[in-house]
This record gives sequence, C-alpha cells and structure tokens, in this order.
Amino acid sequence: MNAPIPATAFRAADRLGAIGVSEIVRLTQEANQLKRQGQPVIVLGLGEPDFDTPAHILEAAQQAMARGETHYTVLDGTAELKAAIQHKFKHDNGLDFALNEITAGAGAKQILYNALMASVNPGDEVILPAPYWTSYADMVLIAGGVPVVVPCTEANGFRITPEQLESAITPRTRWVFINSPSNPSGAAYSAEQLRPVLEVVERHPQVWLLADDIYEHILYDGRAFATPAAVLPSLRDRTLTVNGVSKAYAMTGWRLGYGAGPKALIAAMAVVQSQATSCPSSISQAAAVAALTGPQDVVRERCQAFQDRRDLVVAALNASPGLRCRVPEGAFYTFASCEGVLGRTTPGGMLLRTDADFCAYLLREHHVAVVPGGVLGLAPYFRISYAASTADLQEACARIQRACQALF
Ligand code: PMP
Repeated sequence: MNAPIPATAFRAADRLGAIGVSEIVRLTQEANQLKRQGQPVIVLGLGEPDFDTPAHILEAAQQAMARGETHYTVLDGTAELKAAIQHKFKHDNGLDFALNEITAGAGAKQILYNALMASVNPGDEVILPAPYWTSYADMVLIAGGVPVVVPCTEANGFRITPEQLESAITPRTRWVFINSPSNPSGAAYSAEQLRPVLEVVERHPQVWLLADDIYEHILYDGRAFATPAAVLPSLRDRTLTVNGVSKAYAMTGWRLGYGAGPKALIAAMAVVQSQATSCPSSISQAAAVAALTGPQDVVRERCQAFQDRRDLVVAALNASPGLRCRVPEGAFYTFASCEGVLGRTTPGGMLLRTDADFCAYLLREHHVAVVPGGVLGLAPYFRISYAASTADLQEACARIQRACQALF
C-alpha cells in the first residue's frame, strides 16, 4: 500500500495540470548529462544563436550602468525603447503604432504570456498551426485555454491552408497564431501566401491574430519578410505583432522582447506584467535600444552564415538513407522527415517505431542530440537547430549519415 501523502507535501496548482518543464529543455539536459559523463555529444537541440552579442550593444549596456540606469523603469518599456520599437516597426514593416500601442517585456516569451493571460478565458480556443513552438500550447493551457492544433503538411510547405483554418475556427476561437519564419519548420509565408489565410481571420470578428515575428531577420535567398498586420491592414486592430532582440542580435540572455497592437490589449498586458515582473531589466532595455537603432550589417552577415549552414545540413540530411528534408526558408532549424527509417532495427537491437525512438538512437548510439517532431506537434519528423559551429554541424551530419546507413 502507498504511504499517505503528508499534509505538508507540495501540491502543484491545478492550472499546471500535466505541464512539465519543456521537453526540449529535458532532452538538452539528458544530452548535457551524457557530455558530462565524457561522451562526445553534439547538442543541436536549443534554438539559440551561437554568436556573441555585438560589441556596440555591450557598450550601450555598460554606459547605461555607468549612468546609473539600474532602477525600475516604466512598466512596459522606457520612452527611449518604445521610440526605438516604434521606429523599427515603421522602418522595417511599414506599420504605424502610437507609443501606447507598444509594450516591452522579458523576452518575446513574456509578451506572448502576457497576451494570453490578459485575453484567454477558460475554454477559449487558440489555433496553433503544427509543427509549432511547444511553449505556445503550454502557455495556452496555463491561461486556461484550449490549444487547437492544426497539422500542416510538408506538401504545403508546413503552412496552414485557408481551408484548414476556416474549418478549425469555432465561436470559441480567440486567437490564431502565425509564426513566420517558423520554429521548428523554418517555413516562411510570403505576402501572397499569407493574404488568403488572413482573409479567413478577417471574416470571423471574434478571432484575433498573433504574429510571432521573432525570426524576421533570419530569412534566406533574398526573400522579403511579410508580417500579417502589414499584409492585411484591416486586421491591424485585432493583431498583436510580437518580436524581440534574442534571435536577430544574439541576445537570448538579455531577455528583451516587444509587441505592438491595439491599445486596449496592450494596457491589459501591462496589468499582467505589473504583477509579474514590474518591468524588463533596465540594462537590457538600453542594450535593445542600441540593437534596434545601431548598425544592422551584423544581422545580414549572420543571416548569410546561417544560410550557409542550412545548405550544409539540408544536403547532408537528403544524402542520408531514410531521411528527407525540404529546404527551409528561414529561422535556424531544419525539420526533416524520418518516416523512411521507421520500422528499422538499430545495430544495438532497438526497433525504431517513432521519431522519438530515432532521436533516442541518434543520441545514445551516435551522440547527436536533436528534437523529435512529436514534441513539436508533427510526427514523424525531427528538428535540428543549426545555430552551431560549422565544424560541429559537419561532424553531427557525418554521424547522422552513419547512423542512417547502419539501419539499411
Ligand atoms: N517565439 C519563438 C517561435 C521562439 O522560437 C522563441 C525562442 N525559442 C521565442 C518566441 C521567445 O524568444 P525570447 O523570449 O528569447 O524573445
């Protein structure tokens, strides 16, 4: 018989339900554990640029500290930061926002969280085209909402079709998320591809659109970036456009993201933030001003470096028996099918039934850590984050090729 649970034992709140630490974080921890045990593991799990934050941004942070900007700031962004964000939206995206339509928080992640906490009632539905960034679904659940997952096909470039969206919308739909370029598929929508999808949203006045533009600057082959509120201006009054400095300027640890949308939503988000963090870090805000207003050539150079790595990884995956990888348009991920290796048995005697089995095989027998598509809402695929050094990518790709060859 089980011992009774002591009255003093910790009981998690019901709202957490079955939500755990992100599966990607768990897999990365497992990989790092193997590394500590001396195994030569290459971790291609986390979505984090391997570059350093550019020097002029570090400098701006040091100057802010020296000026004594080390206190609480205005709740959702200093005047300087909001002005820099306002200019960014106008200059890069052709979007006009008043300062009270702009908010900044501790990462794009907090902006998304604030938005959901500020708007979602129990039972409200949030449409997530899959594959999607896992945090979306968990944040919707914490907010009491229901994630409605719409599987997008590889044949349609992992983009949602207008028909799919139309049939997913119900009277309870509160938000539709569009993340372009996408984590994890790397798929991006052109303005022409977005428009018919947005027109579906336009026909349903209760539905709001969340545009997660965090990978805006990591877009390849000379493609033009398209953001929903600019593509269909009539949707502007029910769109929240989210962005941040983490990916474009290699500033993940600074925790600074921002959003812009209708002022009633922005005000409600400020209420959530005021009770959660009071404001983003004063120093990171000063750094973000430098990032947004300073030289942008480093962003373009790094984008080119990511594109070269994409080409290397896609070619290697397509040369691996049983794997198939479409060429992603942006972000720093490949999302390859591993359908062709399922049903095979590894030299170690493990039957590969799912993408998770394949990823476990890659990690345990070939020391490469990647993320199974099932965790990201679409199987049987796996995600590689190629925000890693070329040397590591070459070695990891060689190992993946050997791992696949060993199955046939
Ligand atoms: N959106 C997407 C799609 C992401 O991949 C990430 C980071 N993994 C974020 C938002 C959050 O970025 P941050 O909080 O660092 O700004």
